Amino acid sequence: MTVQTIDLAGEAPGSTRRLVRHSWGAAGARPKVYLQAALHADEMPGVIALQHLMDLLDVAEAEGRITGEICVVPLANPIGFGQWISHKPMGRQELESMQNFNRHYPDLATLVADALETKLTESAAENLTIIRAEMAAAIAALPVKSDLDALRKTLLGWSHDADYVLDCHCDHMAVMHLYASPLRPADTSLLCRATGARLALIQEVSGGNAFDEAHTVPWAVLKRRYAGRFPIPDGCFSTTLEFRGQLDVDDATGAQDGANLLAFLGAIGAVAGCAAPAHDDAPHYPLGGTDEAFAPQGGVVTWQKRPGDWLQKGETVAHVTDPMTRLRLPVTAPNSGLLFRIELWRHCLRGQSLFNLAGPDVLRSGDLLSD
Ligand SMILES: [Zn+2]
Repeated sequence: MTVQTIDLAGEAPGSTRRLVRHSWGAAGARPKVYLQAALHADEMPGVIALQHLMDLLDVAEAEGRITGEICVVPLANPIGFGQWISHKPMGRQELESMQNFNRHYPDLATLVADALETKLTESAAENLTIIRAEMAAAIAALPVKSDLDALRKTLLGWSHDADYVLDCHCDHMAVMHLYASPLRPADTSLLCRATGARLALIQEVSGGNAFDEAHTVPWAVLKRRYAGRFPIPDGCFSTTLEFRGQLDVDDATGAQDGANLLAFLGAIGAVAGCAAPAHDDAPHYPLGGTDEAFAPQGGVVTWQKRPGDWLQKGETVAHVTDPMTRLRLPVTAPNSGLLFRIELWRHCLRGQSLFNLAGPDVLRSGDLLSD
């Protein structure tokens, strides 16, 4: 195992922040797998899962079982990790710019597409290498005006040439689920079977340029642009893995999640001698098939349903009680589907989103992710 550190310059005099990457296997070995956690810096379940995975990788390395290259960034966002206000963590947006840490990644297809016109060949395998090299050059040329720019540039520099990118997040209160591109459905199924995810939400472009899609959208765009001229491979499987809810942090769960991730690494040929994925595949539903419900008034939320429950349209999921008027209003399911996440807070303002469900039919399009 090797460790690489990169210091961000620091915006305040006398301050620096550090990114750390741990790597197993020979540099350049394939498949290359890149895993990171806590890009949203108040989401810790994935951090503990990766801690346990790293212990397992040390054992595998000692036994000579690492066959690919595995890179782990165990805490991807030291800027957000340090942001606390009045005893509350504020890890989702950078407070200086209020930008979501998991949005605004560069559009690599736009940056490399023109330069590729004179470089691509008749070989998909050669084009894979050529496109990755062009992406590396584009990332190296990205301007850095802030630590947030430097963070994005460093993470993408480490991950852009991986065959697999697993970005480990969590939701408020949720079942294990994941977001993926439609490009490589067999890998999506494999990851569901390895992790025990209950739901895969599929979309090519969700809006906002999240980290996972920064790795998949360029291949889809380039494939369309060069259709009939040059073969473009589906160069990367990338996913946002939602390790349940923010409070689901304990060593027993993390150890199981780490073992599940190792089963995935075994199944894709990055580590030898691993247990096989032990779960069933999950439904693959379109991200546009998710729906949400909003608070009919401000008040206190009490839940009748739990994440993982299947809802029928019109069914009561929660109540919101206004303690002053004593009015208790139901919150009903806007459609039938799997209740996969609910809000963490037990009080709400009128109009706030309270829960999301997912079904097989597309209901909406456009910008599909929350801020
Ligand atoms: Zn997140």
